Amino acid sequence: MRLAGREAGYGRGMEDRLAKRLRDVPPTIFTVMSSLAVRTGAVNLGQGFPDQEGPPSVIESAVTALRGGRNQYAPGPGVPELREAVARHQQKYYGIDLDPADQVVVTAGATEAIAAAVLGLVDPGDEVAVIEPYYDSYLATIAMAGGVRRAVRTRRTDDGFRLDLDSLRDGVTDRTKVLLVNTPHNPTGMVLDEAERAAVAEVAVRHDVVVVVDEVYEHLVYDGRQHVPLSTLPGMAERTVSISSAGKTFSFTGWKVGWVTGPAGLVANVMAAKQWLTFTNAAPLQPAVAHALEHEMGYVEGLAAQLQDKRDLLCAGLAELELDPVRPEGTYFVLSDVSRFGWADGMEFCQALPERAGVVAIPAQAFYDDVDTGRHLVRWAFCKETAVLEQALSQLRGADLER
Ligand code: PMP
Ligand code: GLN
Repeated sequence: MRLAGREAGYGRGMEDRLAKRLRDVPPTIFTVMSSLAVRTGAVNLGQGFPDQEGPPSVIESAVTALRGGRNQYAPGPGVPELREAVARHQQKYYGIDLDPADQVVVTAGATEAIAAAVLGLVDPGDEVAVIEPYYDSYLATIAMAGGVRRAVRTRRTDDGFRLDLDSLRDGVTDRTKVLLVNTPHNPTGMVLDEAERAAVAEVAVRHDVVVVVDEVYEHLVYDGRQHVPLSTLPGMAERTVSISSAGKTFSFTGWKVGWVTGPAGLVANVMAAKQWLTFTNAAPLQPAVAHALEHEMGYVEGLAAQLQDKRDLLCAGLAELELDPVRPEGTYFVLSDVSRFGWADGMEFCQALPERAGVVAIPAQAFYDDVDTGRHLVRWAFCKETAVLEQALSQLRGADLER
């Protein structure tokens, strides 16, 4: 059972009037753990945001837009130069042809894109299959749409976390309206391999399912891997909605600029909901993100190379501490198993960690329907300056981590 209402940390008394569809949805774990970091002054390896700024030329471009009269509502689907830049990016990196007029919509981060896709495509009672563990906004969004969640499992293997293909075939049926996929995957760091991608396409085509793919970490993949969009597989272009974010690609998480791409019909379904959520957002930041896509992809390559080194540093440190990390193939995150120190419950471990070691991490059980499967797992973020990672590791080495 998940905690809901006040038990889970919502404000006093609010559960009395909370709409039923939100009663089983706990507050986001990121707010809970970042508040803990602020309260205790701990090093925050919890919430995934970089502590270095994105490219200066992108900030300059935003300042120019702010000073240059770009401060009123952007058009509902986004400013034309950003939609055009997104279309060029999809062509250049993935060979996908899009018409910026009706196949690209700019959103308030990937979060709004996910919400608009689910609200625009799912009726109450429809099944939505989702890869477990899943990013926490998926649970809330499916609940707000009245959808019925079906978890598709992942398994830890010698080759990191992998999609359980039997569970995929069980979880996606003729009753499934939407399959929500995230690759590169938060929190496991898994990047779907060729066989996994083919299996997703096979079930989606067989059951005529719309696939919503959260690709916010598309450029943050390691060891020479390439991100392959599911929309490029046979039979997938017409059924796939793809979601990206400037937050992760250019290290501007606070800007909340994301975008949706796909076939015009599905993008129109997303737009039908999106226009009633924010309508439009971040008018002066949108041209700056267009500038970033046109001129700063070199920054992203450099970022991925740095993150790979930071992944190695954090994984080596956690392994030396016997915290049993699983080496991620992409993203900002590494999962580790804390049960060896007697902690059967990662939540308890994470609550004790600020006092024991002055470090905050995220209990991965927040991302599981089947809380027991993820109970012993803890997520650590490595999108931090090297000195911060070293500081955290040094504090962990000096701490008593036994339960
Ligand atoms: N999806 C995943 C998998 C994420 O990790 C995040 C956090 N960046 C988001 C969506 C939300 O992205 P945004 O901040 O652009 O809303
Ligand atoms: N995506 C980030 C993470 O997984 C955090 C985003 C948020 O705080 N909602 O840590």
